[in-house]
Amino acid sequence: MTRIVCIGESMVEMAPLETPGTYRMGFAGDTLNTAWYLAKLLGDRARVDYFTAVGTDPVSDQMLDFLTQEAIGTANILRRSDRTLGLYMIQLQNGERSFSYWRGQSAARTLAQSGQDIATALRGADIAYFSGITIAILSQHDRETLMTALEEFSTSGGEIVFDPNLRPKLWTTPQDMTQAIMDAARLSDIVLPSYEDEATWFGDQSPEDTARRYAQHGAGIVVVKNGPGEMIVHSDAGLSRHQPEKVSAVIDTTAAGDSFNAGFLASYIAGGPLDQAIAAGARLAARVVTYRGALVEEAVLGHELAG
Ligand code: ADP
Repeated sequence: MTRIVCIGESMVEMAPLETPGTYRMGFAGDTLNTAWYLAKLLGDRARVDYFTAVGTDPVSDQMLDFLTQEAIGTANILRRSDRTLGLYMIQLQNGERSFSYWRGQSAARTLAQSGQDIATALRGADIAYFSGITIAILSQHDRETLMTALEEFSTSGGEIVFDPNLRPKLWTTPQDMTQAIMDAARLSDIVLPSYEDEATWFGDQSPEDTARRYAQHGAGIVVVKNGPGEMIVHSDAGLSRHQPEKVSAVIDTTAAGDSFNAGFLASYIAGGPLDQAIAAGARLAARVVTYRGALVEEAVLGHELAG
């Protein structure tokens, strides 16, 4: 059975309810969102584990309970008695969502202090999945520790999947970000960028440029997502173009990219050809954007792994 380890930060999410000043508490984060969709889509066909660091407080316990309940493995998650989870709050103003974050001292920032802990989490796994946010929250030293552990995983036959998820606010300078992103991409077999961010921070003139840049750095498969626009894919077969599903009423694009990645990977893991995996990713994302929130149970119902 395929085992996937998703590495990153899961935060407490406070989402506003109708009565002003009231919120619903949940858990979310880019790599967690992907892990959640992967576990739902793959069921018994795969084992999905999450690797992060959390506190020893009751809220951290609650998050681990949530992951367990959603069939995501927590066995290797690190516990830090002096830290807790990061948190974000969603504000709604005239229908627009804005986000405030408290994550500067989150436990997840310590997830890569020990290469041994990462090696333990990856032992026996087939796929490691991480993102630009995973590396953005680490110190340079810990980032290098993570890169070394991933390199060893790759050398021993593991497959690495990376979503650059560019978040300049989490980096000291844009140069630090682009440098670290390309270092991470160099280790990765599959890279799943979003064109809008890439164009802004790498100066790519087209999605084809983005695909070529990552392919030239060694990625075997690059899928360039582009919101409602055409996706550009680079693989052994060269460049190809794929139309996403048409969505007439987009409600909330939160986790569009994260769910695309899960739909794509689930189909790829199930042995589907690349075209079908891309179609499956786009189909899931198209349903996710028609609901509010990151983790959309309804979007998964009836989803076929084949495109
Ligand atoms: P991110 O959420 O990382 O910014 P994108 O916005 O590029 O990612 O979207 C990821 C995928 O979600 C797209 O490739 C597409 O399949 C789907 N998607 C996003 N927005 C739309 C939309 N407005 N209409 C149809 N599909 C969409």
